[in-house]
Amino acid sequence: MHLPRLLLPALTLTALALFAQVPAGSTAPAMEWREVFNEDGTITQALTPKAPAETTTFRALAAAEVTKIHGDRDPADAFDLVFVGDGYTADDLATYTANVKSKWDELSAVEPFASYKDYFNVWQVNVISTESGVDHDPTRGILKDTALDMGFWCQGRDANTERLLCVNETKAKEYAAQAPQADQVIALGNTTKYGGAGGSVATASGSNAQAGQIAIHELGHSIGGLADEYDYPYLTYTGTEPREKNVTKDPTGAKWGEYLGKPSPDGGVIAPLEGARYYKNGLYRPTDNSIMRTLGKQFNSIGRDEMIKAFKAKIPSLTTPAVR
Ligand SMILES: [Zn+2]
Repeated sequence: MHLPRLLLPALTLTALALFAQVPAGSTAPAMEWREVFNEDGTITQALTPKAPAETTTFRALAAAEVTKIHGDRDPADAFDLVFVGDGYTADDLATYTANVKSKWDELSAVEPFASYKDYFNVWQVNVISTESGVDHDPTRGILKDTALDMGFWCQGRDANTERLLCVNETKAKEYAAQAPQADQVIALGNTTKYGGAGGSVATASGSNAQAGQIAIHELGHSIGGLADEYDYPYLTYTGTEPREKNVTKDPTGAKWGEYLGKPSPDGGVIAPLEGARYYKNGLYRPTDNSIMRTLGKQFNSIGRDEMIKAFKAKIPSLTTPAVR
């Protein structure tokens, strides 16, 4: 059963917005842009071979135990975050449980999640793998038999970017569907090595503390509908006004109206700065360095408010007075 997923259209902005494909008839693999998270907190994009099309569906996947680690709300009146794990054997379940908890603790300490955490349900799907660990860890060429096929170097397809940790998204979503509802799926890999990737299934290294920031950034996309505020890889933007609230092509920043000149929680005041949404020129961001540009930072006030608006749109009891 799939309940309506109101927020999904805003999802996977980065994975889809910069989609690229080789010409028809070519034998070269199709390519796509993937969001890459660097260890110094900066964020970039890598042009990466796409995963081959799935030839089967995985409805026959083994049933997995689902446990709720936070929240007790009707999924129709909550934001449902679902964790799936890869490379955790039955003996590794305690590690997985600790990894999920640490990621949720980190996420729920950051505003606006801290103020709204009572409106989240957090589910943990206990996906059991045959072997511990993920592919190409610690070095390229080491392969593990795991449930979700997770691996560095984007499952071995990418020649340039080791920290790009990719997962079989079809399998990850099938397992996530065993939870009552999934508004965002996060796949954790059983590894200490830094890595992650954006997309309809965000990934992060389960036992790497820094990797938890990836999930926070991804929820900026999936909940807030926020654009990336970094300016890689393109030069000059010539398109129409972007729909996302946190970027604009207008150098006056008029889109941000009464926010202009006011302090923002990530530092400084709201004022248009050139360089945003993959372009160095022609697009502006509201602050120098929010988490939509660099991991470890705060959301700026525009980003926070967009997410709060999305919570209110998604969660009826936030706007409907309680019956007394
Ligand atoms: Zn992003």
